[in-house]
Amino acid sequence: AKALGRNTYSFFTNEMNIIIQRRMEIEEQMRGALERNEFEIYYQPQLDVKNKEIIGAEALLRWHNLALGNVTPDEFIPIAEHTGLIVPIGKYVIKQALCFLNQWQNIQHQKYTISVNLSPRQFRDNELLSFLKNTLTEENVNPESLELEITEGVLMSAQSYIHEAVAEINDLGIKLSMDDFGTGYSSISYLRQYPFDVLKIDRSFIHGITLNKADCDLVKAIITMSHSLGLTVVAEGVETEEQLKLLEELSCNFVQGYYFSKPIPAQQLLDFSVNHFK
Ligand code: C2E
Ligand code: CA
Ligand code: CA
Ligand code: CA
Repeated sequence: AKALGRNTYSFFTNEMNIIIQRRMEIEEQMRGALERNEFEIYYQPQLDVKNKEIIGAEALLRWHNLALGNVTPDEFIPIAEHTGLIVPIGKYVIKQALCFLNQWQNIQHQKYTISVNLSPRQFRDNELLSFLKNTLTEENVNPESLELEITEGVLMSAQSYIHEAVAEINDLGIKLSMDDFGTGYSSISYLRQYPFDVLKIDRSFIHGITLNKADCDLVKAIITMSHSLGLTVVAEGVETEEQLKLLEELSCNFVQGYYFSKPIPAQQLLDFSVNHFK
């Protein structure tokens, strides 16, 4: 029994070692990644359910490192958040996305919007507001064309600086979007407390809408509630035509998902949106 116990223990520490080593290597590589220009922003188009026209895109970060290969955001964002590296990386995302948006609007359509994900740590940066304001000016983008996506994780700490930052973002005219709606515990109460413009239904709910009535009813209720609160609704993770048709019946405003396009590089989005209107 003792031997088994020891084996279990060393097995456990080996597993832990692998996880910790991977984490440390990601952290180490991430420290120089901005300077080495290893990040790229991909864009996933968002479409109007009614006329299937492109209305904008979500900016999603991609990281390719020489030693680690491609690292997914689900793996590196939490580490960037933990180490604080998300602050400079997040600024890079905003700068790049606004620079691209300016081009995209000028080439094709002034109505296009870009949404950018903001994580909790970025709100502790005193310069967030001035950075947003200055970058919008430098890149010549109207604040209404920028949407910031936050999850309830940002709001959970209930710190007064978060309340203030969100109010100031809203005062600047930037749109505020609640991401991953339905996955947390208090999303509904936050909708009352903060000036959200957009609600994004998490893709775990969209997956089931054509498969079971409960998910369909739930999504229907979320859309009705959102509209009565004056919110625009985006469905995430739309993968099939059946889902799209059903969402149209439920009066969902916008969709995003593999059915139309995966997240793609900037140049591909330009091509996609040109061809889209041919
Ligand atoms: P998210 O904000 O919920 O982004 C949507 C994720 O769903 C993206 O994963 C996207 O590629 C994926 N997706 C879109 N359509 C479909 C679909 O039809 N089916 C399926 N199965 N998946 C779909 P991605 O790009 O791997 O990003 C994962 C998460 O990493 C994001 O989730 C977001 O929380 C975070 N993230 C990505 N970029 C940034 C960033 O620049 N800043 C911050 N703070 N977080 C980011
Ligand atoms: Ca998002
Ligand atoms: Ca607003
Ligand atoms: Ca989401």
